[in-house]
Amino acid sequence: MSVVSFKCKNCGGELLFDPDSQKFHCEYCDSYFTREELGEEPESKTEDPAPRAEAASKTGAAQREDEFSEGEVVEYTCPSCGAQVIAEASTAATWCYYCHNPVVLSSRLSNKLKPNKVIPFVLDKEQAEKAFEQWKKKKWFLKPGFSREARLEKMSGVYYPYWRINCRTQGHISGNAEKIRTWRSGDTEYTETERYQVVRRGQVELRDITFTAINREDIDLTQGVYPFDYSKAQEFSMAYLSGFLAERRMTETKDVRPRAQEKIRGYTREKLEDTVKGYTHFTVRDSGCQMEEEKWEYVLLPAWVMTYQYNGETYYYAVNGQTGKTCGRLPLSKARLAALFAGVTAVAFGVFSLIGGLLL
Ligand SMILES: [Zn+2]
Ligand SMILES: [Zn+2]
Repeated sequence: MSVVSFKCKNCGGELLFDPDSQKFHCEYCDSYFTREELGEEPESKTEDPAPRAEAASKTGAAQREDEFSEGEVVEYTCPSCGAQVIAEASTAATWCYYCHNPVVLSSRLSNKLKPNKVIPFVLDKEQAEKAFEQWKKKKWFLKPGFSREARLEKMSGVYYPYWRINCRTQGHISGNAEKIRTWRSGDTEYTETERYQVVRRGQVELRDITFTAINREDIDLTQGVYPFDYSKAQEFSMAYLSGFLAERRMTETKDVRPRAQEKIRGYTREKLEDTVKGYTHFTVRDSGCQMEEEKWEYVLLPAWVMTYQYNGETYYYAVNGQTGKTCGRLPLSKARLAALFAGVTAVAFGVFSLIGGLLL
């Protein structure tokens, strides 16, 4: 397992990504660096200067190019203090337990595991904590004494792995529609029913359909801190992870594609249905959709998360690290933490070339 840390060019201290300035900050000498000033991403071990390469070579497994291996807990050597540290299978960036310096597990973010994009944190920890305080005030379920009794744990900034899909579809729907008109003349009420067969064909552009890339089972799609503004996404660089926690992806596109295609078909159908207007009823009898251009990206998205204990139970809370949108609920299992971010969002752009409305 190879690991990297990002060092200050002036004093050799650890650099942390600073959400306020969107630069890399040295807390020791108070220097700031841009992404460009950091220079090349230290991806390859052979090009790495000491002490990183030395530290890595102490672990027997370090020379092996680490690839996607599920469920593997690894031991690595902290580049700052040399301690042996254990990392969970899904960890991509963390802190050394001993010296508290940030460390990025570079082999879990390289080659085919390299993310395409990252949305860097915009909110810092203080802003996230303020958002939590405000959110807490509004919650009905917080019993009196909550603030006093709840044992608040540290709020952590975490990059979570996602698949982002953009695609174009050619869809069609057909179904039966009715226009019903009633009127009264004297003592007689008249009802006129016009029946139509409605057909719609169209091209739908779908953007930013987002699926978690963590392979946990009980994902609930109803809650979330979505959406994220992908126009602010950056080309991936490990340096953005410095000072944060990060999880790496644990799924391949093939694991997600069936569910993604189902969503895409659903969105396409919805978009076409939205264009059927002016009828009293409309029932879809048949629909179909062909995907024309499908673009998948592996992205890391930022969130501040916090767990808290209340009456012996564990609750979770999250803030979108880019927009500040908050979300919290009462799940009991740790796996459900993922659910906070597992919503599916999509923005659909225009529907073109419609053919519609045939009067029978
Ligand atoms: Zn420095
Ligand atoms: Zn250390």
